[in-house]
Amino acid sequence: MAPKSIGKTDLSALPIARGRFEQEQVSAYLAQIFDAQELAAMSQARVDRRMVFGINPYYHALACGSGLRDASGNELLPEMPQSQAILALVLPRLAETENLAGEPDPSNQMRYTPSGSLAGKLLHKYDEIVLGHAAIACSAHCRYCYRADLFNRTTGKGWIRPEELRDYVITHNGELARQGELDPATGRRRFPVREVLLSGGDPMVMGNAKLYCYLEACGQAGVNMVRIGTKELAFRPQRFDQELIRMLCLFHERWPDVHLNIVSHFSHPDEFLERSMDGSYIARCHHYKWLAPVQCAAKALLSLNFVSIDNQTPIIRKVNDDADALRLLHQELRQAGIRSKYVLQCRHMKGYRAFAVPLEQAWAIHNRAMQGLSDAARSRFVMSTEDGKIEVLGMTGGHQEDSETDNTCLPAGRDLIFFKIYRSPSRDDNQGEMLIACRNPKAFWLSDYEDRFIHDGRSGGAARLQALLGSRSPSERYGNVA
Ligand code: SF4
Repeated sequence: MAPKSIGKTDLSALPIARGRFEQEQVSAYLAQIFDAQELAAMSQARVDRRMVFGINPYYHALACGSGLRDASGNELLPEMPQSQAILALVLPRLAETENLAGEPDPSNQMRYTPSGSLAGKLLHKYDEIVLGHAAIACSAHCRYCYRADLFNRTTGKGWIRPEELRDYVITHNGELARQGELDPATGRRRFPVREVLLSGGDPMVMGNAKLYCYLEACGQAGVNMVRIGTKELAFRPQRFDQELIRMLCLFHERWPDVHLNIVSHFSHPDEFLERSMDGSYIARCHHYKWLAPVQCAAKALLSLNFVSIDNQTPIIRKVNDDADALRLLHQELRQAGIRSKYVLQCRHMKGYRAFAVPLEQAWAIHNRAMQGLSDAARSRFVMSTEDGKIEVLGMTGGHQEDSETDNTCLPAGRDLIFFKIYRSPSRDDNQGEMLIACRNPKAFWLSDYEDRFIHDGRSGGAARLQALLGSRSPSERYGNVA
C-alpha cells in the first residue's frame, strides 16, 4: 500500500501524533496520508495493536518535506521533497498484520534478565555490560521496532529505577570479586560489569534531571562507560541543546573517568542530509550538506572529549535496502566523526515479514555498500541473536541484492553461508566459533538454517555435523535447497 502524496502545508500545524488509530490526533494525521479505505483496512487488521503509531513535528516535517521553524521563526528545516525512506520508517503497513509470524520477545531477551524484583527491568547477557530499560517511550515509532513488547507490556519487560541499576552492578561485581572472577560452576574466567547501556524506548526522551540521575547512578556503580541508545539524533536533534551539554559537563566534572558513548540509530541519509527540490543531496567540497539541527547536535556532543558516537541500524525493506544509500550513510557519518558499528538483520519480531529483507540479500546489500569505504568507515553485518552477536561473514555461489528479485532463482544447493559468533553470551564459551550452513535464499533469520547446518559452533558443532549428515555430503543430504 502506497500512501497518497502528502500536501506540503496541510500537516505542519498538527502537533505530535502518537497513539492508536482511534485517537483523534492520530486518525486526523493518518487520514491525510491514507485514503479512507486503506485506513479502514489497517484499522480492521488492528495494525495499531501490533505497534502504536508515533511521529513528532520535527520528524514529520523531515518526512513530508514541509519545512519547520522554531517559535522565534528561525528555520529548523527547509522545504524539501518528501522522503520515501523516512515515510516508510514510520508509516503503518497493512502487511504488518498479514503475516504475524515472529517472536513476542525477539532473541529471547528475557532469558538474560535476573529473577526477582529486577525481572524484565535489566538484561545481563554479556559479562561486561548491563542493559537497563531507563525509558519506555520514544518521540516517534519505527514500525520495525523490536521493543514493541516493552511498549505493549506483553512479555514482562519494565522500567528500572536508577538506584536499582546501580545496586545490581555493585552487588554483581562484589560477588564476582569474592569468587576471584571465576564462575563457581565451571571454573571459567568471568569479567566484571564495566559498562551500562541505558536503553528503552529512548532514554533521551527523559528530561535532563532524570537522565542525570541515571548517569550519576552509573558513576556510583563504578563503571567506566555509560552508553545511551537513542534515535533522537534523527527523530529530534534539537533535544541535544546547550542545557543538555551543560548537564553532561556537570556529570563529567563529577565522574571524569567515565566515558559517554552515544549509540545512535541513523537509518538513511535523508535523516541528516539536506535535499534540494529535485531530490538530490547538496554537494559540498568533500561531502554533502547536513541538516543544521543534526549537524549542531553531533558537533556539540563530539566537542566533549569524553563523548563518542557509534551508529547502528537494521536493514529494512523500503527504508534502506539500497547499497548506495547505505554507503552514503557510512561515508557521511564517518566524515562527521560518527563510527558505523553494526548493520543488523531485522529481528524476528511479530510481523517482521513486512520489514525484513531475506538474510542473504541483506548481506549482499551490506557487502556492496562497503565497496569504496575505508576500514574506518565500515561496519559489520550481524544478527543479534539469543546466542550472541553472530556476524554474517560471506557466502559461496554469488549473490543477488535486488529487492525485486524472485529469491527462488538464487543459487543454492551446494553453496554455503558462513557465520561467526562475534560476541558470545557470558554463559557460553564459544566466542569466535563458526557456523556453516547450506544456503537458504528464503531465510530471514538463523532459525531458517536450523535443518541445514553442517557445522554449528554454538554447541557441539562436530557432533551435530555427524548427526545431521552421517557420511553424506551437504548436497546429498539436502539436494537443491532453493
Ligand atoms: S527508536 Fe528504537 S526503541 Fe524507539 S521505536 Fe525505534 S527501534 Fe523502537
